[in-house]
Amino acid sequence: MNRRKFIKNTSITGIGLALGNSVVSCAENNSDKPTVTTPIDNSKGSLPLVIATWHVKNATAKAMKVLQSGGNALDAVEQGCMVEEADIKNSSVGKGGLPDRDGNVTLDACIMDKDGNCGSVVFLKDITHAVSVARKVMEDTPHVMLAGEGAKQFAISQGFKEEDLLTEGSKKAWEDWKVKSEYKPIINIENHDTIGMLAIDKNGDIAGACTTSGLAYKMQGRVGDSPIIGSGLFIDNEIGGCVATGLGEEVVKTVGSFLVVELMRQGKTPQQACEEAISRIVNKPNSDYKNFQVGYIAVNKKGETGSYSIHQWFSMTKFQDGKNEQIQSDYFNKT
Ligand code: ASP
Repeated sequence: MNRRKFIKNTSITGIGLALGNSVVSCAENNSDKPTVTTPIDNSKGSLPLVIATWHVKNATAKAMKVLQSGGNALDAVEQGCMVEEADIKNSSVGKGGLPDRDGNVTLDACIMDKDGNCGSVVFLKDITHAVSVARKVMEDTPHVMLAGEGAKQFAISQGFKEEDLLTEGSKKAWEDWKVKSEYKPIINIENHDTIGMLAIDKNGDIAGACTTSGLAYKMQGRVGDSPIIGSGLFIDNEIGGCVATGLGEEVVKTVGSFLVVELMRQGKTPQQACEEAISRIVNKPNSDYKNFQVGYIAVNKKGETGSYSIHQWFSMTKFQDGKNEQIQSDYFNKT
């Protein structure tokens, strides 16, 4: 089934279903607990751990290998994301990512470490490993964000290889899309997608990263949530972390990942926090949520995780306690 049919089916599935009250009841359960920082419980053997959006077992396996060989959470999320960036079968990230409506592949990525340092790149062309460029921005410049040609020139100056990211497969998909006259960019809602990753290393430190080619067939210059710290990703090493996937415009409007972390700070579990953040989107007046997808994954300092989306085809890959598994997310709008 192609992405367009998925979109259509999303709408059809939504019709006639009562709004599930799981999100509403979550909001009703809000407590006004003061900030709680829970100590790490290594006795459960729950650290290190890696979680990522969608079905990306190779990426989480790579990240876990980094953690097990003594790497920190930052190294793990960078190297985990790089696996998907290099995979030309993944058409929503790195090389092979679907282009904008004019045929340009433009990448967005960000990374954040345990100390609150962050770096991001937006509208990056011709460089596969956007996440690594974001890390260089964080570590080797006084800035947090570089865009467009400046980001590309910076990457080249750091030794990154310039290459054509538009593969034959993505070019063909774009050409087929162009035949249709209506301008309707397609959000990535399949089970193979933009990657957001969170890791906790054996010291209990948290880092996260996010990398994407964004909304397929977007207007040239469009930037989503993925490189925006607080929207596509947020880490607070005292509390936890969150990454988003789905229609970036909706995530940006609610500053989704920051919201999830702040809700955890107030005492919510990662699951409750993700549910509440989704409720902020679907409960907006005139929300068009039946026609788009947003999903969050989150982890707290204890190594508890959560994931939640608007529709049912969202999943998280989790590598913890020796198991690397794809976990179907709970979702809004179920019967
Ligand atoms: N959030 C990304 C964006 O809006 C796309 C995705 O996660 O599928 O650019």
